[in-house]
Amino acid sequence: MSKIGLFRCADNELKCPLTSCLKSLKSREEGFAGYLETELVGIFTLQNDLEENLKLARIMAAKGAEAIHLVTCSFAHRGEGKTWHLGRGFVRDPDNLAREIAKAGGLPCVKGSAHLPADYEVETYTA
Ligand code: SF4
Repeated sequence: MSKIGLFRCADNELKCPLTSCLKSLKSREEGFAGYLETELVGIFTLQNDLEENLKLARIMAAKGAEAIHLVTCSFAHRGEGKTWHLGRGFVRDPDNLAREIAKAGGLPCVKGSAHLPADYEVETYTA
């Protein structure tokens, strides 16, 4: 069983209740395709301050998460016809955020959850 923590975007918090993220996690698709089993440990909303996010990563690790996933809308945007494209997500520097979260939490941080862009291969940052 892989225990997953999800980090979502504050700017989207009142618009999306993580519907596709949770569906993908449960069915082990899209950003969760590499797992044999998945269990959701918890969900945090990303803060503007990096240090605050690193605190959240440590808490998530202490709660038993084995990996943290950044939701897809943190680093990608929705285009025409509901297709998703890399870039212009809600987080300014998602690569650095993922790298720092992995280090702080001592666990892998994966960029991606649901509806991955067609040209994107899932990136995982390790501690
Ligand atoms: S990745 Fe998609 S489903 Fe998940 S929070 Fe963002 S918009 Fe919602």
